[in-house]
Amino acid sequence: MTSFKLFKAGQFSPLSAAISVATTVQSFAHRHPRRVSAAVLTVLAGSAVTAFGVSDLGALPQGPAPVITQITETIEPSQLAEQVQAVDSQSLTLYRSELTRPADTVDSLLKRLGVDDADAAQFIRHDAVAANLLKGRTGKAIKALVEDGRLRELIVRGPAGDGDNETHFTRLTIERTANGFTARQQIVPLEVRQQLVSGTIQSSLFAAADDAGMPDAVTTQVAEIFGSDIDFRRELRKGDTFSALYEAHAADGEPITWGHASGKVLAARFINKGETHDAVWYQESGRKGAYFDLTGKSKTRAFLASPLAFSRVTSGFAMRFHPIQKTWKAHLGVDFGAPTGTPVRSVGNGVVSFAGVQNGYGNVVQIQHNGDRTTVYAHLSRIDVRRGQRIDQGDRIGAVGATGWATGPHLHFEFKVNGKQIDPMVIARASESLQLSPQSLGAFKKVATTVAQRLNQASDWHTAGAQTGPRFE
Ligand SMILES: [Zn+2]
Repeated sequence: MTSFKLFKAGQFSPLSAAISVATTVQSFAHRHPRRVSAAVLTVLAGSAVTAFGVSDLGALPQGPAPVITQITETIEPSQLAEQVQAVDSQSLTLYRSELTRPADTVDSLLKRLGVDDADAAQFIRHDAVAANLLKGRTGKAIKALVEDGRLRELIVRGPAGDGDNETHFTRLTIERTANGFTARQQIVPLEVRQQLVSGTIQSSLFAAADDAGMPDAVTTQVAEIFGSDIDFRRELRKGDTFSALYEAHAADGEPITWGHASGKVLAARFINKGETHDAVWYQESGRKGAYFDLTGKSKTRAFLASPLAFSRVTSGFAMRFHPIQKTWKAHLGVDFGAPTGTPVRSVGNGVVSFAGVQNGYGNVVQIQHNGDRTTVYAHLSRIDVRRGQRIDQGDRIGAVGATGWATGPHLHFEFKVNGKQIDPMVIARASESLQLSPQSLGAFKKVATTVAQRLNQASDWHTAGAQTGPRFE
């Protein structure tokens, strides 16, 4: 059996490599105490790049695809020696990790953590600080140090406050001391770490992103960033590759388990059908930040290629062109299949020239843009704008439905220039885009060069990951 056949079967993808930059060895050791000794030796040998091959080389893959993780860290060798010792001496103690669940009680949680300790349970129930453990949102990350069923230490990391505070987290520490248990709670800043991830498409973008360990929030951003370069609904090919550098929030070195686990994409590359597209986030002084290609040309165009944001849900629905539908002669345009209620956005700035019901269109919105360009959004389940209203690109104007002459929920979309139908993708690609000012270009190019090197690095590691994966001849 060849590895190629295995990829096709979708059982295993050694091409997928998740690369985590700036992860500390300490936190890695904490999570993977058994793997760290071998890994640390590689670092001691003088390389700043450590490859953790998690797969069993040469063995047939079973279960979920192994992930090959590479970690870059500059470390003093003397500290490392201590780390190795510390990890080895801790390896007999039992660390348990859990997330709090909605139905949790003190007893159910301690049981899951392997704690059989009446004193600990009693303390958590009655101490005002410790009782915070099960208050507020669930999904908090718990780490317990357990010795023969007795609790030695419990650390709980969760959101700070009730809102979506994405700058700090709450660290609750419960500790056994000579005089019984103590509890303290601290508000600690979240770390923002840069993650570098790379993957190859075998079947779909989201499947490849899952294999690479790329969060959905990052995948959808990447698809939006390259939305006018690549038609993600029709033009993806097996073998297309992507890399992304993005911000991820971490609490004490661990990726957070609540709120928005990952933030902004800083840079991305997508190689589609052999053509390379790059994007770098850059903010000129006095302007809003935006994505630019490596030459300083903005990725933001006057028109979006799609009135539906790309997501795991909408990516699974086909898009079809139907120049003429037999039951409705005047029916020209593009249909986007999507569930009822999916938000519909204006593809450009303009003014609402019609909002209401119209024969076969059902609930329909028409927007007048600059240069005698008009867009039409039909079969809506709801309309969120009124005639005469000014609209910005990306503003929500309604939701997908099946009103009018529609056989099922979909968005019927038309793009007209001087009354003539045009493929929206063609319009998006041809539409105006912003260029960085000559004053900013020098500074931008420096940033872009550095970022491009990191994206190259991701591709290289990704390729290296493929070579270290199992081969079947
Ligand atoms: Zn249609």
